[in-house]
Amino acid sequence: MDFNTKILHGRSTENYAFNATLPPIAQVTAFGYKSAEEQEKVFHHKAFGFAYTRIGNPTVSAFENRIAELEGAPSAVATSSGMSAVVMSMLNVLQSGDEIVAAAGLYGGTLDLFKDLEKFGIHTHFAKRLTPEYIEPLLNEHTRIVFGEVISNPGLFVLDIPKLSEYVHGKGLPLIVDATTATPYLISPLSLGADIVVHSSSKYINGGGNSISGIIVDGAKFNWDPERYPAMKDFEKYGRMAYSIRLRTDTWENFGTCVSPFNAYMNIVGLETLGLRMERICYNARQIARSLSEIDGIYDVNHPTLETSEAHELAETELHGYGGGILTLRAGSREKAFHILNHLKYCTIASNIGDIRTLVIHPWSTLYMHSSPEAAADAGVYDDTIRVSVGIEDPADLADDFAQAIKAE
Ligand SMILES: *Cc1c(COP(=O)(O)O)cnc(C)c1O
Repeated sequence: MDFNTKILHGRSTENYAFNATLPPIAQVTAFGYKSAEEQEKVFHHKAFGFAYTRIGNPTVSAFENRIAELEGAPSAVATSSGMSAVVMSMLNVLQSGDEIVAAAGLYGGTLDLFKDLEKFGIHTHFAKRLTPEYIEPLLNEHTRIVFGEVISNPGLFVLDIPKLSEYVHGKGLPLIVDATTATPYLISPLSLGADIVVHSSSKYINGGGNSISGIIVDGAKFNWDPERYPAMKDFEKYGRMAYSIRLRTDTWENFGTCVSPFNAYMNIVGLETLGLRMERICYNARQIARSLSEIDGIYDVNHPTLETSEAHELAETELHGYGGGILTLRAGSREKAFHILNHLKYCTIASNIGDIRTLVIHPWSTLYMHSSPEAAADAGVYDDTIRVSVGIEDPADLADDFAQAIKAE
């Protein structure tokens, strides 16, 4: 089965009560039992069942199973937000004194998170690009994780996952990637060598901009040496499933970062059209990037499909010619950027990506307000940068909209 067929007819779409085509929404806190013995069995994992929605819920499981199948993984854990997916994916194996090596060009919220982790004794080194050359000088005996975004938001750098994962594994380290902007439609990071994949499913997976959530997918290939990862010691008996089992029964459960059943349901509805939407969104982004490149007064238009983009070659090979749904441009000054944003008719000024509507933002004054100018520049953000999250509107209308906003008095 190929992608779109698998989304609708894969193993994970079957066996709902009454042969319903979508799972029922179990919008409940707890599940009742006929006997104390029965409940005891469920708590001890001796019988299948659900007890309490923070720990497990059938609607949430239905969402997790669908993503796990698409990513080719044994299981996935859904979270309350993309940020909780990012932080839980790391806290699951880290302790005070450990260090992370991460790309400098990351989502602003993730950069802020790494600052918060300093207070818990977890230090992050930033590599200008997540390549062996830039990583090498940052590694030491405390390094435990290498982290990057498959297509960075909004820097639009693309990770060379096969090359990077081979290098990182050679150092005995896992590669964790945030694939939010690439989506399971453009890439299967686990099959290319990544160990853990996280998504903010608030974005393309949901697609309609109606629910905050995230998901963590473990490829179950990395061997967590308990000497290096003492937090994993008690879970060594689970072999390659140690990461997933600790996450589900310990870290994620106790930090309380579960997703609401209703949001999980909305994500399933959205997921079913992911392939179709990405096809249109990527086509639109490519067309608009090309037409913006020809307009006077607009500089440095970036989309991975443009020959001028640093990511062009990897977009051709690793992303099969697609470049994702985000493009950036520079207007010449902060005032000119604001002028364009204020004159767009069909593009909504909003801090989100992956909606079916085209969304625009001035990242410098919003998402990167806590970053230094140098850190923002490393993430591809300047005071005149506009980020566009391209939607499914008709591409000629979008191109006309930008042209008129740039010309507007
Ligand atoms: C939005 C985003 C996040 C955070 O996701 P939330 O669902 O907003 O918590 C993390 N990484 C990337 C790349 C994102 O775009």
